[in-house]
Amino acid sequence: MKFQVTVLGSGSALPTLSRNPSAQILDLNDRLILIDCGEGTQVQLRKHKVKYQRIDTIFITHLHGDHYFGLVGLLNTMELMGRKKDLTIVAPKGLKEILDLQMKYGGAYFNYKIRFNELTEKSPELVFEDKIVKVHRLPLKHRIVCFGYKFEEKAKAANIKKDVIDKYNLDYKDIIMIKEGNDLILDNGSTVPNKDLVIPPRKLRSYAYCSDTSYNEELVPYIRGVDLLYHESTFLHQDAVKAKKTGHSTTKQAAKIAELSEVKTLMLGHYSIRYLDLEPFKREAEEVFSGPVIISDSGLKINIDEHVTIDQTTA
Ligand SMILES: [Zn+2]
Ligand SMILES: [Zn+2]
Repeated sequence: MKFQVTVLGSGSALPTLSRNPSAQILDLNDRLILIDCGEGTQVQLRKHKVKYQRIDTIFITHLHGDHYFGLVGLLNTMELMGRKKDLTIVAPKGLKEILDLQMKYGGAYFNYKIRFNELTEKSPELVFEDKIVKVHRLPLKHRIVCFGYKFEEKAKAANIKKDVIDKYNLDYKDIIMIKEGNDLILDNGSTVPNKDLVIPPRKLRSYAYCSDTSYNEELVPYIRGVDLLYHESTFLHQDAVKAKKTGHSTTKQAAKIAELSEVKTLMLGHYSIRYLDLEPFKREAEEVFSGPVIISDSGLKINIDEHVTIDQTTA
């Protein structure tokens, strides 16, 4: 199954000609999840040929404009293009009220249903779950209520080894039982362990999205060992005072969280407009984090498989 992140924006507060504000697509075998929706996201979706009507769930981290100002526009475009499919939006409390007002005074309506899951700091940690993915909210430390999200692939029922069915003359009931993880008891009373009957399951993949936040070690147990961590790095180390004051992180702080959490790969982003050259971001992060560091940029696609790799054909 495909488990791929597409970056649509990597800048902080101000959209510029070279950097859009925060938005990413998580593609789970053509079933699309949108994470944040800064201004201009729908243009980015078109530019990078994302089939936006396939988005069925949207996660918004917080209500600073650079993370959701593109949302009402995208929802409206979905309506104009004839959407009928339901949409789920997971976001901090307040977003529904904002959208309702925009719709009310614009005399607009949607022909598709939007289900809201509005979060507070008291909401359950598991915020979304379906057959293929489960999503937990993550504690971020920012100037307003802000949640990161961890996306984890769910285990599928195990596949039985081909030769086993004939060898033990298994019937339908046996197969179900083995797929559920049970051992097989033979007529002579001996036991065949489950691991000898099924194909070993593939490693389950995970992605954590953490923006915006100041340095927060509370995050570490939540994101331990994820395949890919996106952690904001609004500032370089030289601007650490500014980072602290504005509720953001520096490259070195993002890298320290990645190192403490033993994540496989770190992706940086949410760069302040003051930096044109992003090479120092990579350099500084690599001084602290021992794994690979990716500098996010619009259009970049990252495949999460056995390893985390940049999709060179489409980047
Ligand atoms: Zn932001
Ligand atoms: Zn913010």
